[in-house]
Amino acid sequence: MKIICIGRNYAEHAKELNNAIPTEPVFFMKPDTALLKDGEPFYYPDFTKDLHHEIEIVLKINKVGKHIEPQFANKYYDEIGLGVDFTARDLQTIAKEKGLPWEKAKAFDGSAPLGKFVNKSTLGNLADLHFELKINGQSRQVGSTKDLLFSFDAIISYVSKFVTLKVGDLIYTGTPSGVGPVNIGDKLQGYISGDLFLEFEVK
Ligand code: MG
Repeated sequence: MKIICIGRNYAEHAKELNNAIPTEPVFFMKPDTALLKDGEPFYYPDFTKDLHHEIEIVLKINKVGKHIEPQFANKYYDEIGLGVDFTARDLQTIAKEKGLPWEKAKAFDGSAPLGKFVNKSTLGNLADLHFELKINGQSRQVGSTKDLLFSFDAIISYVSKFVTLKVGDLIYTGTPSGVGPVNIGDKLQGYISGDLFLEFEVK
């Protein structure tokens, strides 16, 4: 399986990092070794001094597809979950300045913590899904899918023009504003519509 991540998909987040609002989806990938599941602890890597949290709604692909039309995209996922797109912001800033790829900053081991999935039919209106990240009990990021620049269906359609989607692939759909550093000892908890979906510690 592969992990596809959408960048700059919430305007307020694009602005907080001084990025332009994209006119088409920005995507990058993480390898399967980035996954961190079942509440396992995340070990702070020694190659960064500025590790940032990015809480994101995650789609799980359930059907093989290429060149998927937007009106059919909703048939290619039926489970939704929550994940963190950990980012070594210091390394990413250097890569952006030099025009280099982001893999060192984004694709490292454990950089994609992932919580539970539920059937999308249980979540109500997917176009206004509320989600939140708390660190040590304090709210740090709050978002709603109503603020997505590119909808779930638009993302699936766009990405599938370039990359065949396969069963089990994951799409991290972008983070709202409020990204910031995590520290050793932090406890992260992610919620969708007030329900706990994701929980782990940084060690
Ligand atoms: Mg992200």
